[in-house]
Amino acid sequence: MGFDLTKEQQELKERVTAFVRDKVIPFESDPRRTAHGPTDPLRDDLVALAKAEGLLSPHVSEAWGGMGADHMTKAIMFEASGYSMLGPIAMNIAAPDEGNMHLFDEVATEAQKEQYLRPLAGGEKRSVFLMTEPSPGAGSDPSAMLTEARPDGNGWKISGTKWLITGAEGAEMGIVMARTFDDAGEDIGASMFLTPLPADGLKITRVLDTMDSSFTGGHAVVEMDGLRVDGDAVLGEVGKGFRYAQVRLAPARLTHCMRWLGAAQRAHDIACDYAREREAFKTKLIDHEGVGFQLADNEMDMHTARLAIWHCAWVLDQGEPGGRESSMAKVICSEALYRVADRALQVLGGLGMTRDTEVERIFREMRGFRIYDGPSEVHRWSLAKQIKRRGNG
Ligand SMILES: Cc1cc2nc3c(=O)[nH]c(=O)nc-3n(C[C@H](O)[C@H](O)[C@H](O)COP(=O)(O)OP(=O)(O)OC[C@H]3O[C@@H](n4cnc5c(N)ncnc54)[C@H](O)[C@@H]3O)c2cc1C
Repeated sequence: MGFDLTKEQQELKERVTAFVRDKVIPFESDPRRTAHGPTDPLRDDLVALAKAEGLLSPHVSEAWGGMGADHMTKAIMFEASGYSMLGPIAMNIAAPDEGNMHLFDEVATEAQKEQYLRPLAGGEKRSVFLMTEPSPGAGSDPSAMLTEARPDGNGWKISGTKWLITGAEGAEMGIVMARTFDDAGEDIGASMFLTPLPADGLKITRVLDTMDSSFTGGHAVVEMDGLRVDGDAVLGEVGKGFRYAQVRLAPARLTHCMRWLGAAQRAHDIACDYAREREAFKTKLIDHEGVGFQLADNEMDMHTARLAIWHCAWVLDQGEPGGRESSMAKVICSEALYRVADRALQVLGGLGMTRDTEVERIFREMRGFRIYDGPSEVHRWSLAKQIKRRGNG
């Protein structure tokens, strides 16, 4: 067992670090960073920079315009990209596009890849993943899904309401998850359907005001009333939607961990700089045990998070599904990295509450990570069920 990076991984780490530091961070003061995320024109400018740098879409296979990075290489590159909240946007590895591209790469037909994956990988278009519904529909429990797809000639008609849909405003394609019925009206399970956007029968009724603001297009409520898709718009096979959701979710959870680790590192570095300089009671903050211990705890939390990420990346690189490992990594990272952001803010005192540093934003943005891609409680509950089934030994 070794933890050495390959020469290529080391070089990629350095290239992404330099790219984020020199090209991306200067955009953090851009007024096109709005309450509903960086605008599309800002995203376009950032994507163009990453493209020129040869750092766009590292996770997509080379045949479809990416760099074909394995999970371990992604762990290195995504962490470095997360050092700025704009880094993943620039490199086209932010949610939900990153997970959607992975799903297309794994499941889509060649024709679907040409239509959907190629322009996504090239950063020309954005996509959405439409699964969650307002209560009483699908949330933590996807089996509560109310959106329906019913046969319509050689295709399907889809109706239902989705919400918290990241990036909907301005997206040009969507993956819709719907409960599917056959001609006899029999429920044949959930399926994933592809649609170009905008589309007749689908409208964005509201862009939500949320405590985060780093996803282009924000998070929206989307209503479908007879959205028509052709038969070849099914992703994979009819009735296997929940299985494909797992194909998407296990790596997608882990890439969130990777990006947030970079963000936590940034918050920690800002806090360390402050604690080394700022004095209180004639002593540098860092020399007060109460502050120094917080910074030490930060490093331990980030170390634990990185080990969980690297281990899960290794499991996925062995071709294993990695569901259990990614569940554990998701809980470990979302909780540990939130503590890091919280301590960094505390060490900065009143400055931490202001937008004069990125720490305020990182702290605010990080909160949602304990909820999306499975709340911590649901992962713990699912692990507990496995423990019960498995017994000891
Ligand atoms: C910032 C953000 C972006 C998102 N983007 C998207 C997107 O692009 N597309 C999309 O489809 N969805 C998206 N979501 C939705 C997200 O996936 C859901 O919020 C998540 O699955 C939880 O569902 P819910 O909000 O309906 O919570 P609920 O199902 O209502 O659960 C509420 C709380 O109940 C508790 N709980 C639930 N089940 C259990 C259990 N078994 N044991 C113990 N406690 C439990 C948990 O604490 C949970 O937080 C996004 C969410 C956020 C916050």
